[in-house]
Formats: sequence, C-alpha cells, structure tokens
Amino acid sequence: MRNIIFIAPPAAGKGTISDLLVKSYNYEHISTGDLLREEIKKSSDLGKKLDEIIKQGKLVNDEFMINLMENKLNSLDTNKSFILDGFPRTLEQAKKLDEMLVSNKVTNNLVVYLNISLEEALKRVMGRVICPNCKRSYNLNNEELKPKVDNICDDCKVGLEHRSDDNEETFKTRFQNYLENTSPILDYYKDKRILISIDAMDTLDNIIAEIKIEAEK
Ligand SMILES: [Zn+2]
Repeated sequence: MRNIIFIAPPAAGKGTISDLLVKSYNYEHISTGDLLREEIKKSSDLGKKLDEIIKQGKLVNDEFMINLMENKLNSLDTNKSFILDGFPRTLEQAKKLDEMLVSNKVTNNLVVYLNISLEEALKRVMGRVICPNCKRSYNLNNEELKPKVDNICDDCKVGLEHRSDDNEETFKTRFQNYLENTSPILDYYKDKRILISIDAMDTLDNIIAEIKIEAEK
C-alpha cells in the first residue's frame, strides 16, 4: 500500500478514517498531535522548547514541526506504510517533507484530500458529544456515529455531554484559516499528480473503499 498524506479540514472525519485504515491495512499512524504530546512527556530538548512555546501561548512554528517530523521519519520502520496526519500544514512544510521522504527513500505516496464544506463541517462539530463515563465519542448529526438511543451512551446507558471546545465563530475562523493555508499545498500536490479528492460526506465504507483502490495502485 502507498503511504497516505491526509489533508483534511477540521471535522472532515480524518481521525475515524485513519483508525479504520490502521485496523484494516496495518498502517502506522503518524499524528503530529500525538508526536507533540510524546515529545513533551519525554522532556527531550525539543520537548522542553515546545512546552515553553505552548506556555507562552505561541504557535508551533514551521521549523519546529519540520524538526519533529524529520526525527520521526528517520526512525521509521520502512517495511510498513504510514498515514501522515497533521503535516504538512503549509507549503514550506510540504516542500521540506518531499526532501525528507526522498532522503529516506520513501517514494510511493498518495495525498488524500477530504473535501467538506464549512456548513457540513459546522453541523458535524456542533453534533459532537461524548460519554462522561467511558469517554466514547458520538455525533448526533452523523447517521454512522449516532448513539442507538438519542443522547444515551450505547455501552454505559448514561447521558451524553456536548464537547464544547469550539463555538460557532471560533470554528469558522479555524476552518477558513485551514483552507487558506492548505490551498497552495493542494495545488502543489495536484501538479505532482499524487492528489485525490474525496467527498467527506460519503459513507465511511465508500470512503475507505475509494482510498484503498488508490492506495493499492
Ligand atoms: Zn459510555
């Protein structure tokens, strides 16, 4: 299978899709969010710097993200295909990523863009609920991720709570910023002919099947 680089706006379902691909096709999931958390836990030099940046409320810059990714790619098991999630976020990162992949002799890559409108993404994010007991996530606005009984956890039978890390306005800003930063990346990969665009509103089964066909080429 080809390696997959995900470009997906917030709430496009990247997490769920990644998990399914890992389970079904034994992909290694490389998530920048996880890498950042690991690095802080290890208290490495990078991790200490990162902790400081976050404490000061600053954004993690390109150089830092590139460093982090370089360390990870250099230590990869090359027999296993990977899913890259959260990187690249800027054109600069995309160009650097190319260099890193070439120097690690990783050549067979597929870029998957999960296409979703702001309207649909907003609907999804507002429907996100979580079980306060087992922490299982549901989505009241997504047929496939709904609980069996309205607002009740399938497993624990307790009431679900809204996950309120976003309100409508902050989500809209986050979404628009994402599109602005990533549209040059999409053009970049389109020119390289390794980009596919997938309708994020399709069923999970269809999405996985579509990705599988392309990843096996
Ligand atoms: Zn539960």
